[in-house]
Amino acid sequence: MSNMPKILDDLVTANHVLAKHNVVDSFGHVSIRHPENPEHYLLSRARAPACVDQGDIMEFALDSKVVGHNQAPGKPYSERFIHGAIYAARPDVMAVVHNHSPNVVPFTVVKSRRFGAIMHMAAPIGCCVPNWDIATKFGDRTNLLVTSNDMGRDLAATLGNNSAALMRGHGAVVVGKTLREVVFLSIYMELNAEMLIKAQAMGEVTFLSEGEVEANARGRAGFTLERGWENFCREVGRPYYPLAMEMGPGFSKTDPTQ
Ligand SMILES: [Zn+2]
Repeated sequence: MSNMPKILDDLVTANHVLAKHNVVDSFGHVSIRHPENPEHYLLSRARAPACVDQGDIMEFALDSKVVGHNQAPGKPYSERFIHGAIYAARPDVMAVVHNHSPNVVPFTVVKSRRFGAIMHMAAPIGCCVPNWDIATKFGDRTNLLVTSNDMGRDLAATLGNNSAALMRGHGAVVVGKTLREVVFLSIYMELNAEMLIKAQAMGEVTFLSEGEVEANARGRAGFTLERGWENFCREVGRPYYPLAMEMGPGFSKTDPTQ
């Protein structure tokens, strides 16, 4: 039997979880690459994430044209090009979040402030998250929204091989190999930003080193993600469908039975 109903249900859950954790509000969105067609992706119609249900999910080609528009439930997000361009540029990416994460946005506009991981849970965002400025290529008359494939490709180029990129005066994108991973990282990126603002108010900050980022990222696998996801599902009253609990190669094995 196809897993699609559960996969779509998890995408609905991801919308609700990101809203619950203040990563998105009435705006912002989360998508997955289509599990049966890597040239397509799945994303809600333009609706506040906390309100999204399965009937809102639309299918797009990587140029962000609606596929099967006769069945389309409504207007798509104007910034869907973010998702299509990143899936086209990054074959390894299976899920994308775009948000206006409130504690992250200040780091997109203060030139002298570096944004990177200061706590281990946020390690995969990296030591120094790149910052995309729409004005560099598209001038100072845009409304800052990513509303074309050209803009999406320019943002994807700044993202490069990173897990996240800032968007000046706007927000951020976060990518992952799974939906759970991108939700987990988006939540911890927002928390990391809040902690970083507090830490900088107290004094000089020590960021995670490249080696620490790498070691943490290697340990980030099923066991860690399932622990988070099960709890996230409970918080928003959504069903939890367990996935494999494998540990990453960098996971700290302290259990003597292993
Ligand atoms: Zn936006």
